[in-house]
Amino acid sequence: MSRMKAVQVSKPGGNFELVERPVPEPGRSQVRIKVEACGICHSDALVKEGLWPGLQYPRVPGHEIAGRIDAVGPDVTKWKPGQRVGVGWHGGHCFQCEPCRRGDFVLCQFGKITGITFDGGYADYVVVPAEAVAAMPDDLPADLAAPLLCAGITVYNSLRNAGARAGDLVAIQGIGGLGHLGIQYARQMGFRTVAIGRGGDKAALARKLGAHDYIDTSAAAPADALQKLGGARLVLATAPDAKSISALVDGLAPNGKLLVVGAAFEPLAVTPIQLLSQRRTVQGWPSGSAMDSEDTLHFSALSGVRPMIERYPLEKAADAYQQMISSKARFRVVLTMGG
Ligand SMILES: [Zn+2]
Ligand SMILES: [Zn+2]
Repeated sequence: MSRMKAVQVSKPGGNFELVERPVPEPGRSQVRIKVEACGICHSDALVKEGLWPGLQYPRVPGHEIAGRIDAVGPDVTKWKPGQRVGVGWHGGHCFQCEPCRRGDFVLCQFGKITGITFDGGYADYVVVPAEAVAAMPDDLPADLAAPLLCAGITVYNSLRNAGARAGDLVAIQGIGGLGHLGIQYARQMGFRTVAIGRGGDKAALARKLGAHDYIDTSAAAPADALQKLGGARLVLATAPDAKSISALVDGLAPNGKLLVVGAAFEPLAVTPIQLLSQRRTVQGWPSGSAMDSEDTLHFSALSGVRPMIERYPLEKAADAYQQMISSKARFRVVLTMGG
């Protein structure tokens, strides 16, 4: 039986361990992917630190997987060995529950999560349910595609479904792993794009990514600055800081929407008056299905949206994770599998 390298966590709070394992075989309706690159996401801390209830160890993390179909199990008709594909956070669904019967697979009551319910992409090979697989365009290199499968899809899919129209003022809060992609997508979708960050030093980068305007929260109250520009139809909150997010509500235009994708645990502070007087809304958004991933990859290839990444070999997963978790990375960290 052939063997592969994988990086696993064997208990909550445990270290990353480089191990040899048998190459897994795809079962019914599953495919095996030869992993070429896997992004490291902040949510991998859920595996590392044991923050996901019921998670079974040892577990191989990783839900930003880019590679090629290597083998397919029985009943798989859509995929063939050699096809370039990606897999994100949404790792499959039951097809039977009420959200699934309505076609809303992301909200499946029995949904699987890549790298949490089953082993993920910190490995040479991964086996995933066929319905979790997205086709990847040929002109997108694997290391640049990987972060689009969680960070990318989350901002792309939330932005395109939030009701803003071409020319509307859309503000992106935070210029990090999610935000640096959000600015690019907002610009490429035809919105008047405003980046919101702390400090004047980020202005040049924000404009390079496509922002028409930059608001420095250390220089002025961001809500006032947004109102000076006419008010935001949409604020995409990407930095997980409840206080900074709450401070933007008064920057929304009439019928404006605060769209939250940065995963914070603290409550937002929003008064009913702030919402009802201007008919404002607050909405959250999870990532998306495999088809949404596929749309994200195609739009990115078409429009030139690319993540800024730092590459590490699989063997250096512990260093790579440290770079991510310390917020030093500019902006996404990607593991590459060199054979
Ligand atoms: Zn993620
Ligand atoms: Zn379901």
